[in-house]
Amino acid sequence: MAVPKRKMSRSNTRARRSQWKTTAANLATCPSCKADKLAHVACPSCGAYNGRQYAEALRTENEL
Ligand SMILES: [Zn+2]
Repeated sequence: MAVPKRKMSRSNTRARRSQWKTTAANLATCPSCKADKLAHVACPSCGAYNGRQYAEALRTENEL
């Protein structure tokens, strides 16, 4: 495996890390209860996903 020849300077490390950014959560609206929910995930407030009901979703601690 390739190994760096020299220690990277603190300035270089910090310049690289300055580009680390978070992205906003991809929120969608639940079609059954109209609450905000994450896209492609069962609704945390009513457990609906793709016309079906998931009891597990109601028990999660995930709150938006
Ligand atoms: Zn819902």
